[in-house]
Amino acid sequence: MKGFDVAIIGGGLSGSSTALNLSKKGYSVLVIEKEKFQGYIPCAGGMASSMQKFLPLDIEDCIETKIKNVEFRWKASDNVIADLTGESPFWIIKREKLDQLLIDESQRNGVQIIRSVLVEKVTKKNDRWEITCNDARKYKSEFLVVADGSQSKWAGYFKLGPRNPKFANTISMRLKGLGDVPRYAVRFEFGFIRYGFAWAFPLKDCLNIGLGTFINNGHLENQAINNQIIKSFGFNNFSCKTIKKKLRIWNGIHSINGDKVLAVGDAASLCDPFLAEGIRPSLISSYYAAESIDQCLSGKVENLNLYTKTINNNWGKSMAWGRRIAQVFYRFPRTGYQLGIKRKTAPKRIAQILSGEMSYEDIARRVILRLLTKRGD
Ligand SMILES: Cc1cc2nc3c(=O)[nH]c(=O)nc-3n(C[C@H](O)[C@H](O)[C@H](O)COP(=O)(O)OP(=O)(O)OC[C@H]3O[C@@H](n4cnc5c(N)ncnc54)[C@H](O)[C@@H]3O)c2cc1C
Repeated sequence: MKGFDVAIIGGGLSGSSTALNLSKKGYSVLVIEKEKFQGYIPCAGGMASSMQKFLPLDIEDCIETKIKNVEFRWKASDNVIADLTGESPFWIIKREKLDQLLIDESQRNGVQIIRSVLVEKVTKKNDRWEITCNDARKYKSEFLVVADGSQSKWAGYFKLGPRNPKFANTISMRLKGLGDVPRYAVRFEFGFIRYGFAWAFPLKDCLNIGLGTFINNGHLENQAINNQIIKSFGFNNFSCKTIKKKLRIWNGIHSINGDKVLAVGDAASLCDPFLAEGIRPSLISSYYAAESIDQCLSGKVENLNLYTKTINNNWGKSMAWGRRIAQVFYRFPRTGYQLGIKRKTAPKRIAQILSGEMSYEDIARRVILRLLTKRGD
């Protein structure tokens, strides 16, 4: 039975970036991925460029568009446009390219990846994990990382993250051409979808379109409305494959580590409950997961508890505000749009959230301060 320092269940963005970070530190890593190869990934690819610092390789080749403007609309009108000219721009990356780049670099660094395999059983023997796969092969590892995404089976099994995970319902598609979305802009379309919104993010020669509902298990089954949204992005005749996905979103402060096991990315329920941003928490959690495992393996600390603490401080606190904002905004979207998005400084603030310059917590502090001092923002 082959032994590794770390075994990772899931070879998506979180699994592959954790593997790469660990292999750069010199550890032996096994990634177990259930898919044979990665086809179209239902992800619009919007990410803050500031996240580059959480990756040990240059991802310039994966960037399809560097965004200059963010457009907000209410039912295809009432536009608000924000400039994205801050310190830290917003990029649209092609997820298939990024995931492949991370996997290739991991393999060059000695990471072993096995595909088309499902983990069937995980037990602990003599303080080491013993992993049995559905092809009857067994592996041993010192540490275990759960990175099996939104439909995670193993997060629940190890009691990592919320007991009752919350999900956003999403539909995604990729259409040829950019419709009427400007080349260097992302568009957020409110008002058509109850409890959510639609988004259009431009790649080089096509548009990633997403529809999502974030509270009350809102549904997206009304084809006439979905067609209306796609038309609102400037497509009259279209036919394309759509993918439905339940996206696990942040739902409270919870422990995301156990004894020699931790969860990263969607499996850890880290996705932003207001804007569906999951790339940033995936990269942050993968980075700190590798740091924490390194500290344990090199004998500097005894357990992984600092990992949960760090993620809750760096991400969870902001998401607690993100969840509050989502609950109010998606219940009263018209008012939210008028008082929130159309407020003079709001587009700039949302742009700063997207680019990672500000957190929901920073915004909440400003609002509270404004209420206390009654000064304008
Ligand atoms: C429609 C849509 C649009 C989005 N757009 C954006 C965006 O623009 N910006 C942004 O920041 N975020 C976006 N997100 C969120 C982002 O895509 C996710 O947060 C991100 O993919 C999480 O990565 P992950 O590696 O944790 O999970 P995943 O990417 O889902 O990877 C999990 C991997 O685990 C594998 N796996 C699952 N179960 C097992 C198992 N039992 N054994 C082995 N392998 C297993 C899967 O095959 C998969 O490869 C979007 C999400 C959706 C649904």
